[in-house]
Formats: sequence, structure tokens, C-alpha cells
Amino acid sequence: MNEIYMDNHATTPVDPRVFEAMRPYFCERFGNAASGGHSFGRKAQEAVEGARRQTASLIHAKPEEIVFTSGATESNNLAIKGAVEAYKGKKDRLVTVSTEHKSVLDSCKRLALSGVKVTYLPVRRDGILDVGVLRSAITRRTLFLSVMFANNEIGVIQPIAEIGRVAGEKGVLFHCDAAQAVGKVPVDVKAMGIDLLSFTAHKLYGPKGVGALYVRKKDPPIRLIPLLDGGGHERGMRSGTLNVPGIVGLGKACELCQREMKPESARLARLRDELRNGILNKLEDCDVNGSQKSRLPHNLNVSFGGVEAQDMIRELKGIAVSSGSACLSTSPEPSYVLKALGAPEELRRGALRFGLGRFNTGEEVEEVVRRVVRAVKRLRKSKPSA
Ligand SMILES: *Cc1c(COP(=O)(O)O)cnc(C)c1O
Repeated sequence: MNEIYMDNHATTPVDPRVFEAMRPYFCERFGNAASGGHSFGRKAQEAVEGARRQTASLIHAKPEEIVFTSGATESNNLAIKGAVEAYKGKKDRLVTVSTEHKSVLDSCKRLALSGVKVTYLPVRRDGILDVGVLRSAITRRTLFLSVMFANNEIGVIQPIAEIGRVAGEKGVLFHCDAAQAVGKVPVDVKAMGIDLLSFTAHKLYGPKGVGALYVRKKDPPIRLIPLLDGGGHERGMRSGTLNVPGIVGLGKACELCQREMKPESARLARLRDELRNGILNKLEDCDVNGSQKSRLPHNLNVSFGGVEAQDMIRELKGIAVSSGSACLSTSPEPSYVLKALGAPEELRRGALRFGLGRFNTGEEVEEVVRRVVRAVKRLRKSKPSA
């Protein structure tokens, strides 16, 4: 039996075209991008600058506004801790949302230990932040706002352009964790009023261990205190020898996403709807978690009444889906994201996340529908109380 991978929110496979672009930068063009004195270094530097252009283009930024990092966790840490340290003064408050990724929530928690006040905003039952609630949470002392673009569990997309407008009006720095959105849906940092934007290669068919932080350079230029001190790479914001093959991979992955986004997101939305309808038409007592309107095209999150997600995952052997965020797989607790939506305990325990991707086919979707329906029926029958 062929395994089916449908956990593309946890990570994506490297696209073979990305891998081919990276390949020469391991053994042949191995130079240090900071060694401009010889051709080995210059070739690496040119490759990095090419990737910087490709990466910037995807989010409508300028190449000099891209800081390469090790991934979105680092980008989030750098944006939040770096900006708060750089600007802390009369303004010292932070506003974020209860459904953010742990790398945002825990960065905020760390700052709270040193006296920064953090406000965690609730979301509506559909997972979307109410912009009116946000507006009234921002005070004269609010320095920094962090709202994710799209949620990694339920795929809902926040009203980012509207939030950017509020941040602009109120003079608050706006950081956005866009790890799930970049490459999948249009992201335009200028049109959306974003000052800092985090993303990562391994969620968009690039390699693991490389990502980027967009740092606005004008109107106004954003300052950051770096997390790492050293050689002053990346405009002083991220010291350390550049991961040239990884960066080349991120650039190529961004170029492919930009070129193929439109037809690919339409294809994925069609497959996702087939998956949803296939399941909901054949099974009673299922709930889709999160807004169905404002949502990533490749995400489906369903709670199966009377069924435990852990039992489903066991029944669906050979199909890779997950019960929540991969980043929390060490803790068996049901999702804090679904809790923030106000989902009752039973629905939280029965939630499965399906993340479609570039390499999924219509046949795979049909197979997953068949297997899911069979598994739910079997589990419900074996538990007479349900
Ligand atoms: C995956 C993910 C991250 C972390 O990215 P890494 O590159 O794995 O560190 C952060 N935020 C969101 C929303 C994610 O989905």
C-alpha cells in the first residue's frame, strides 16, 4: 500500500526542482558568501542575492528588506524580542492573539518575565479576530502587535490588511507570522501595512532549517536588536555564516510558488472541497472547525463526534494526517487553538487536520475519503455509548 501524505501544515516535501537548484551549492560552489575577495565567495554571494530577490518578490518587498534566518521560529523570536528591545521606552505593551503559534506566544511569555505587559486577544467561534476588539485593546502604551496570517491548525486567514490599517493609524509596529500563508495565498507587505513578516522554507516545498524575516526599511525603517552577536551578517540583524544551499532553496521555492500559485491554489481548493464534501455527505455529526470563507485553500479541520483523534490516526495507518499542531506533538493535550474557539471538549478531542499539498492527487483524496468514512463508522460502532 502506498502511503499518502496529507500533513502539509507540519512540513512539505522539497520540490525536486528546488533540490536541483540547491545541489551545486554543497560540493562545488561551497564558498562563504561573506568572502568577497575570491570567486568562490563571490559565487556564493551572487547566489544568495539572487535568492534574496526571489524571496522578496513573492511578498512584494525589496531585496534589502529580507533577513535570512533558520526558520519561522527564529524569525518570530527576532521580530518580537528584537523590536521590543529596540523600542522599549514609554511604550512597552504587546498585543497578540490566543491562537498564535507557540513561537510567538512563548516569545511574548519570555518578555513578560522582564515586565512587558502582554494582552492575548480572543477570537470568534470561527477563529477570526474581531478587528473592533483589536482596536479597543490598543492603548497609548502599545508598542507592538503580532497577528498570524493563517492558522496552522484550522487554516483560517485573519483580516491582515484591515489589521495593518489599524496598526498604522495607531502607530503600532505590526508583526505577522505568515509561515502558513506565504507561497499559498497572495501576501503583499506594502499593501497590507506589515512591518515585520516571518516565514519558512519547509512549509513551501523548500528545505528545513532556513527561513526569512521581512524587516521594513522605509516609512518608517524598523530597527531590531539582534538575538545573535557576531560578524554582523544580514545588516547586523542575524550574525552567522549564511546557509547558502538552504537560502538558494528558499529562493527557488519562492519563485515556483509565485509562478504557480494561482492555478495551484484553485486545484487545491477543489480537492479540499471534494475531501470535505466526501466526508460530510457520508457521515453524520461532523463539524468543520474554523471559518470556511476566510481559509487557506488546502486546509480542512474536522471534528468527528464520538471519536477520538488518536484512535482515528491509528485506524488511518498509511495516511499521514494529524490531530493538531506538529510543534506540540510532545504534549497529548487537545488543541489550545480549538479551545480558544470555544469548541467543546468532545469536539476538541475528535479533531483531525488535513493539509493538502502540491503532490496530492484526486485519487488520493478519494482514497482518504473512503478510509476516513470506514474508520469513523467502525470506531462509532465499537463504542455503543457514542
Ligand atoms: C511551522 C510554523 C512555524 C515555525 O516554523 P519553523 O521554520 O519550523 O521554525 C511558526 N509559525 C507557524 C504559523 C508555523 O506554521
